[in-house]
Amino acid sequence: MNDWLFHRARATPDATALVSADSGTAWSYEGLDEEVERLAGQLASLGLTTGDHLGVLMETSVEFVRLVHAAGRLGLVLVPLNARLTADELAVQAERADLTALVCTADTEPQAVEAADWVPVASVDDPQWEGVTHLQQTAVADFERGEWDEDDTQLLLFTSGTTGQPKAVRLTAGNLQASAVASAFRLGVVPDDRWLVTLPMYHMGGLAPVLRCALYGTTVVVREGFDPGPTADDIGEFDVTGVSLVPTMLTRMLDARGTLSDSLRFVLLGGAPAPATLIDRCRDYSVPVHPTYGMTETASQIATAAPTDAFDFAGTVGRPLMWTEVTVVDDDGTPLPPGETGELIVSGPTVTPGYYDDRETTEAAFCEHGLRTGDVGTRDESGRLWVLNRKDDTIITGGENVQPGEVAGVLRDHRDVREVAVVGVPDEEWGERVGALIVPRSEDVTVEDIEAHCEESLAGFKRPRLIVFAEELPRTPSGTVKRDAVRELLLDSER
Ligand code: ATP
Ligand code: MG
Repeated sequence: MNDWLFHRARATPDATALVSADSGTAWSYEGLDEEVERLAGQLASLGLTTGDHLGVLMETSVEFVRLVHAAGRLGLVLVPLNARLTADELAVQAERADLTALVCTADTEPQAVEAADWVPVASVDDPQWEGVTHLQQTAVADFERGEWDEDDTQLLLFTSGTTGQPKAVRLTAGNLQASAVASAFRLGVVPDDRWLVTLPMYHMGGLAPVLRCALYGTTVVVREGFDPGPTADDIGEFDVTGVSLVPTMLTRMLDARGTLSDSLRFVLLGGAPAPATLIDRCRDYSVPVHPTYGMTETASQIATAAPTDAFDFAGTVGRPLMWTEVTVVDDDGTPLPPGETGELIVSGPTVTPGYYDDRETTEAAFCEHGLRTGDVGTRDESGRLWVLNRKDDTIITGGENVQPGEVAGVLRDHRDVREVAVVGVPDEEWGERVGALIVPRSEDVTVEDIEAHCEESLAGFKRPRLIVFAEELPRTPSGTVKRDAVRELLLDSER
């Protein structure tokens, strides 16, 4: 299976492969193919061959897209690294992933050199440091092409590190193909679709559309950096039909522009729960929102909801994609019937074979029914899923289990609540009590308002006993909420 990513594109060489929203330049598949061929030759001149690990340290860009394909052509394992990490954090990941070489830009070169001076570093721009190769000034015309078997690792992708050190997830060519096909079936992708990529490509949300569009023969529109108003404008300007966003991005785009272009056929929302107020706005403005649930370990989506389900079944992330099975289990690992809450276990062809060079973590991650997601959720009779929160975040207060995701969902329904994080705070009498850190929408909102709102919808033991307002939530470099820091802020407010 040579170069599977370009499979469909070979049949449609004139179709538009790539558009830079920054410069307006467009490439046909034939044009991109030629550039990828040249880039593959440049990478080969660094001495890279099939099976080597190619680190990429850059923000979402046209160069990154080319590198994804050039790595595929040479049979290299792609290792996208988070360009927002410090050199020390990067050094840990570069070593964990056994890099053979690292490609950077002028912007990320200092970090790259500091983090991985033990491998060749090449820049796609003019190098600033001695010893860094200018990738564009090297090339060999003749190189050996990679062959991809279903079980070959094609990607090492780090998790966001919300629960600890980021883990290096192995994703095979088979995992990536299965997720591309299942997602296309769910969304009804057509050849004329145009996907805007503005999420970082070192997470699945930004990388998946790039991998998939080449396979589908559809178009990728790349925008460097996210700016709510201009990014919303890109959608109309480039006739974009699909975009993947995290909920905060969509909220900010709607705040900036009111609604989005009606060229859109799907807005995939993932990575975090979508607030009910956001879904309501999508309904009011006819934004075709598809809440999704996914993780790095499943090569992106596990489940995806159609807008009709999102509007009619509050908070659902939809049904699992084709081939994917989700089992809800109790603390003993016994499957639970619909309506019950427990850990979500996932199995199917998109699920990683494991973490790179880490048998212990891999073994701990799997059970009889599949991969432990570490997330708590529930499903209804027809298979729709709801994700509440991570298992470790379950609050035990006076012997009762409280899922912070449920409490946060109720708080988010309050019109003066912009963002919220709910955590357990140590308590001498109850073991833990429910605490809420709230970023308000209005300065006038009071603790009493929030308490009155909770009284209507939550049983007494689930209601937050400690409510604190803040200007923003503490987050990891990938944007997930740092729960320990939230807990500290809540405790500080009482000191
Ligand atoms: P780590 O595994 O290192 O702790 P992480 O789990 O945050 O980091 P990712 O793979 O980027 O790394 O994120 C996947 C997680 O994101 C899921 O396990 C889930 O907790 C959360 N998530 C994704 N989509 C949703 C959603 N729709 N609602 C709630 N949580 C979601
Ligand atoms: Mg995880």
